[in-house]
Amino acid sequence: MSIVSANPTPADERALLASLPTGLLIDGVWRPASDGGTFDVIDPSTGDALLTIASATPADGAAALDAAVGAQRPWARTAPRERAEILRRAFDAVTARSDDFALLMTLEMGKPLAESRGEVAYGAEFLRWFSEETARIAGRFAMAPDGNSRLLVMKRPVGPSLFITPWNFPLAMATRKIAPAIAAGCTMVLKPAALTPLTALLFAQVLSEAGLPDGVLNVIQTTRAGAVTGPLIADSRLRKLSFTGSTEVGRRLIADAAQQVLRVSMELGGNAPLLVFDDADLDKAVDGAMLAKLRNGGEACTAANRILVQRGVAGEFSRRLTERMAAHTIARGTDPASKIGPLVDESTRQKVHELVTSAVAEGATLALGGRVVQGAGYFYEPTVLTDVPAGARILSQEIFGPVAPIVTFDTEEEAVRLANDTEFGLVAYAFTRDLNRGLRLAEELEVGMFGLNTGIVSNPAAPFGGVKQSGTGREGGIEGIEEYLETRYVGIADPYRE
Ligand code: NAP
Repeated sequence: MSIVSANPTPADERALLASLPTGLLIDGVWRPASDGGTFDVIDPSTGDALLTIASATPADGAAALDAAVGAQRPWARTAPRERAEILRRAFDAVTARSDDFALLMTLEMGKPLAESRGEVAYGAEFLRWFSEETARIAGRFAMAPDGNSRLLVMKRPVGPSLFITPWNFPLAMATRKIAPAIAAGCTMVLKPAALTPLTALLFAQVLSEAGLPDGVLNVIQTTRAGAVTGPLIADSRLRKLSFTGSTEVGRRLIADAAQQVLRVSMELGGNAPLLVFDDADLDKAVDGAMLAKLRNGGEACTAANRILVQRGVAGEFSRRLTERMAAHTIARGTDPASKIGPLVDESTRQKVHELVTSAVAEGATLALGGRVVQGAGYFYEPTVLTDVPAGARILSQEIFGPVAPIVTFDTEEEAVRLANDTEFGLVAYAFTRDLNRGLRLAEELEVGMFGLNTGIVSNPAAPFGGVKQSGTGREGGIEGIEEYLETRYVGIADPYRE
């Protein structure tokens, strides 16, 4: 059961924070950093410290990898059913403590409680999905075409894995990696984002209570990400690196991982286009754009970053979107009226504001917002920019804030060209009543995921991931577990030939 109520009070907040582990989880033991180092986790709606927790050193990182390596062989030998049931118990526990997880995410990341609850449901679902996939890991057996031997293909866990996760979805980005790794029989070291590590600490505690053996999951939050994870990536005992974060950091990690020819999964940045055609159901298109733009306050890799609207409906669509965005209440995420919380920190807010300012200087029209909210916390007004010229800087970078740049186009061909004019390729959305056009777009857009007449595609039962510089690998779906499995082939002599 949750410690806090569905409408949490300041006393609930204090009780929840006081209940959390504050150490590093290494080999089943919560311990302080080897040098006693700590850091503060900040509430982005006030700028105040929420809790002080241990900050791992490189020696702690090494101890975490030792623990993962030590636990790997016995863990790989556990019955699939046993791993499945740990995941299923963890799903039940996270669901039962939904209010605790939701409040914690709201406190450290800022999103409104309703959105945090949505993330708890989404994040927990990976635990249930992969508990169900655990018993279905299978290989194949065949007679060689010439009949002279038998071919056995088996799946083995990749081995000790390092997970590095971002701050924007503190639970889901962890469960998307941890659940399939548990299902496959891999051990892990998790380095959560320094801005939002508390959710990972609570989740690790829940997993231990669900029966995860010591050493299978080790958690090393730190303020020295590169110094702590670099030596692990260089260690030949590590077999896999799964990273979710910016393309810039991902690129560097791929280069580091190349030294050990390490298997990598990279869930990197996005620059999603959202296309609205003249024949679209405009109500659906506006609803979809609101979801794709403002979910998570715009701080999502899947956020609609470039809203491309066909000329015939551009005026009406922009007017309706502006109206809807203007009605969003900006408030601390714990306030029941809050529709939009703070951005995660001051540097994120400055970057968003700078992109808006430069778009206006480049010729865009400011239809709504465009201002930093004065006072405590890192709030930014929902913003709409219309007539954004192709080539504006805001169209080539991830905005990561509540800003909707609208670009007008004339033909489908032009829309596809504009949509693909980016180094990213995570997701695209389109709104049209023409099914043939929808199918053409599904084939022509250079993305890993495509939402047709919907502003959200994330689903634990579907493969999430990008192409181009949005990364490599897939999380979720039946594909998600493959990231943690190796294929081993065993050649067997013809059993009829003595
Ligand atoms: P980030 O700056 O790349 O950080 C991501 C993680 O990498 C954090 O844990 C960070 O630690 C760590 N890190 C930073 N530098 C590192 C280094 N040199 N060596 C090892 N680890 C390092 O990204 P972010 O700002 O947290 O997250 C936003 C980005 O994530 C956006 O680009 C977004 O599109 C992307 N994202 C992608 C997906 C997807 O599935 N494709 C999902 C969500 C987010 P610190 O916390 O200490 O900096």
